[in-house]
Parts: sequence; C-alpha cells; structure tokens
Amino acid sequence: MPIDATQPYDDQNIFAKILRGEIPSKRVYEDDFAIAFHDINPQAPTHLLVIPRGAYVSWDDFSARAPDTEIAGFIRAVGAVARAAGLVEPGYRLLANIGQDGHQEVPHLHVHVFAGRPLGPMLA
Ligand code: 5GP
Repeated sequence: MPIDATQPYDDQNIFAKILRGEIPSKRVYEDDFAIAFHDINPQAPTHLLVIPRGAYVSWDDFSARAPDTEIAGFIRAVGAVARAAGLVEPGYRLLANIGQDGHQEVPHLHVHVFAGRPLGPMLA
C-alpha cells in the first residue's frame, strides 16, 4: 500500500529496522550518511536501495528538513554506491518514489538504483 508522504516518521518501518541491524539485509555500502543494500524483490539484474541514516519519510521530507551536510552526504553516497558497484559504465538508473501517486511503500526515504541491462526509455 502506498504511503502518505506527509505522515510523521515511524521508527518501526522496515528500513529503520534494517538501519539498526534488527532485520537482515545484503548491505553493499555504508558511510556516515547512508547505507545501501539489495532490494528483496529485484526489478533488474542489479537493484539496490540507498537510504539516509537520518529519519526522513520521503524525498519531500528530506529536501525540506535535512541539514545541507546530510543532503550533500546522501547525494555523494548515492554516487559512491554506483561507483563501488561498478555501474557507472555502462550506466544505471536512479528512482525515488514519493507518496501515494508515486507509489512509495516504505516510509523511509530510499533511492532505487537499477542496472545490469539496458533499461529502455523512462516510463512515466
Ligand atoms: P517503494 O515502492 O517504497 O519505492 O519501494 C520499496 C522497495 O523496498 C521495494 O522495491 C521492495 O521490494 C523493497 N523492500 C520491501 N521490504 C524490504 C525488505 O524487507 N528488505 C529489502 N531488502 N527490500 C525490501
């Protein structure tokens, strides 16, 4: 079920539990600002999720509330994840779903990283 992107942060969401190490994930990257792990239901040969360590519901919440250091750190982390996974050439796709119409299901900001095959034109 898609979430309301304006809801308050719920620290019992599944990605908060992954961040705290309370449930397992296949972690591929971590730094001071973000962690990245494999999506449990991959939609491409490589499908990673990058999430900030901070408690933000969505891209909207993050971009409105996060300090500049966290925003810069998270954006750099997304790039670092792709480089560490060797995705820069031949390329990859980033996606962030926001709220109901964006079909965001987990209420902790996450950026999807898709790669491993030609991904075709962007779908609306
Ligand atoms: P959204 O629709 O919110 O943008 O994407 C949520 C993503 O989280 C989905 O691609 C889904 O497969 C993934 N996901 C949901 N629960 C888990 C989980 O427990 N572990 C991992 N690794 N991925 C999850």
